[in-house]
Amino acid sequence: MAEITGAELVVEALKREGIDTIYTLPGDPVGPIVNGCAEAGLRVISVRHEQAAAMAAQAHSYFTRSVGVCVAASGVGQTNTLTAIANAQVNCWPMLVIGGSAELRRRNMGDFQELAQVESTAPLCKWAYAAESIQRIPTLINIALRRAVAGRPGPVYLDLPAEMISGSVDDSEVEIPAPAPEPARPLAEPDKIEKALEVLKEAERPLLIVGKGASWSWAEDELLQFVERTQIPFLTSPMGAGTLPPDHPMNVSAARTQALQGADTVLLVGARLNWIFHFGQTPRFAEDYKLIQVDIDDEEIGTNHPAEVGLVGDAKMVMGQMVDALDDNPVEFGETPWLGGLKEKASENGASIEPMLNADIMPLGYYRILKEIRDYMPKDSILVADGASTMDISRQVIPVWNPRQRVDAGVAGCVGVGVPFSIAAKVVYPDKPVICLQGDWAFGFNGMDIETAVRFKLPIVWVVFQNANIDKWVREYVDGEDNPNDFTPAMRFDLMMEAFGGHGEYVEKPDEIRPALERAFNSGKAALVNVIMDPGASRRPQQFAWLAREGRMGY
Ligand code: ADP
Repeated sequence: MAEITGAELVVEALKREGIDTIYTLPGDPVGPIVNGCAEAGLRVISVRHEQAAAMAAQAHSYFTRSVGVCVAASGVGQTNTLTAIANAQVNCWPMLVIGGSAELRRRNMGDFQELAQVESTAPLCKWAYAAESIQRIPTLINIALRRAVAGRPGPVYLDLPAEMISGSVDDSEVEIPAPAPEPARPLAEPDKIEKALEVLKEAERPLLIVGKGASWSWAEDELLQFVERTQIPFLTSPMGAGTLPPDHPMNVSAARTQALQGADTVLLVGARLNWIFHFGQTPRFAEDYKLIQVDIDDEEIGTNHPAEVGLVGDAKMVMGQMVDALDDNPVEFGETPWLGGLKEKASENGASIEPMLNADIMPLGYYRILKEIRDYMPKDSILVADGASTMDISRQVIPVWNPRQRVDAGVAGCVGVGVPFSIAAKVVYPDKPVICLQGDWAFGFNGMDIETAVRFKLPIVWVVFQNANIDKWVREYVDGEDNPNDFTPAMRFDLMMEAFGGHGEYVEKPDEIRPALERAFNSGKAALVNVIMDPGASRRPQQFAWLAREGRMGY
C-alpha cells in the first residue's frame, strides 16, 4: 500500500495501454504528467502551440493505427486544441486529448484559466468527460482509448481538474482495467456481399473509389486482390492515394471527372460522398448510378445518394469477403470501351500539363516546382501537403506509392496542418524521407514549430511555395496597396529556419530547385527550401466553366 498521485496514475495508465509518445506544450497543471511521461521513458515531443500538439497527435494515430495522445494545459491551453480536435473528428481519425483544468474548489470564482472545457469540446468530438475521482483515472483513460477507435474513429477528450493531477490516493483503491483491445473489425452481412457482386456484375461502367477509411483499415492487400481479379477501374480520394499502386493499369485518377460522370455503378470504400466527391450528385456524377457503399458507420450508408447495397463493416474485412465471394461468383470486366476511354482521357490530361511541368520560366509556377520534387523524391517518402493550390496541384503531379504516405488539409480544409503533421511523420518514420509542401499562407499557421523539428533533430524538409498571397481562387482584386489578400513578398523563411539551427535554401530559378532539394536532404537537419514564385500562378484551367463555378469551393 502506497500513496500514488493522479499524475502518476496517468503516466502508468498510458504506458500500460501501450502509448509510447505524447505531444504537448507543458504548462499548469499538467506539468507532473509531462515530466512523469519523460521519466517513464515515453517520447515527449513538446511544441510551441497546443494546436500543433493535437494536430501531430492525430497524424500519429493515422500513421500507426493507434491512438495518438496530446496533453494540454488548462483553459486557453486546452481550447487551443479545439481546431485540431475538430479536424480529427471531420477526418474520422482517433486521438486522445488530456487537458488539465482549473481547481474544482475555485470553480465559479474566476480561477486562473477557468473555462468551460468539457462543454466547448464535447460538440467537436466523440466523447468528452471530466474525471471525478483520482481512483478512476486508469479506467477513464481506458474508456477514452476504446471509444476513440470503436466504429468510426474520432477524437476523445479527458478533462483532469488540477486536484485530480496533484492529489493522491492509496494505490490499493485504484481500479486497473485490462488494456484496451484492438478495435473490432466487423464483417458485412453475407447475403449483402452476394447482392453487391450481383449489382457489380450488371455494370457497364464500374468504378471503385477508395478513401482514407480504407487506408485506416489497412485494406490495401484485399483491395489490390479485388482490383486484379475484377479489373475494375479505380480512383482514390486525396489521402486514400497510395492505398492502391498509382501505376496500376486500372488507376484512372487522372481521368477523375470523366470517371465520376460516366460511372453507372460505384463501389465506394471508406470514403464519404461529401464535398470532396461533389456530394455524389449531378452534375459531377450521373443521375441514376448504382451505389455499393462500404463503411464502418451504418449512419453513413445512403448519405447524399441512395445505396443499392450498404456493406457495413471494416473495409479490410469486407473487401476480403468480396474477394472470397468472387470464387463462386466471378466478376471480371477486362478491357472494356469504358476503361479504354478513361485511359485515353487520363493520358490526354497527363499530356496537357506536360508543358507546365517543364516550363523553364521565371517567376516559377506550381507545376515546375512540383515536377522537380516528384523526380527527386524516393518512393517511400511521406508527403505532407498543405494549403490550397499547392496541395491540390501536388495531387495531380506527385504520385503516392504506398498507403498512408500522404496527409493533407483534409475534409475540414484545415490549412495549417503541414508543420505538425510532418513532425508526427518523422517521429513515426525516422528512416523515411519526409517532405512537406506548403503555401506561404499555410506555413504561417504553425510555422514557428519548425523550431521543434530542429530541437528534436527531426530532419524534415519543408518546401514553402511563396506566392505571397492568399490563392487566386479565394482572393478578389482589391484596389490599392493594402490588399488584404497579399502578404509581404519574398519573405526569408529560409533564414528563419537557419536562425533556429536548421538548413535554409532560397530558390528563384527552375534549375536551382533540384540542387536545393539535394542539399536540404543531405544536410541531415530540419531544412526549409523557400521557393519564390509567380504571385499569379494557378492551376490548369478547368475543362468546363461549370466545374470551376459549382459551389463555394469550386467543387
Ligand atoms: P476521404 O476523405 O478519403 O474521402 P472520408 O473521411 O470522407 O474519406 O471518409 C472516410 C470514411 O471511412 C468514413 O465514412 C468512415 O466512417 C469510414 N471508415 C473509417 N474507418 C473505417 C473502417 N475501418 N472500415 C470502413 N470504413 C471506415
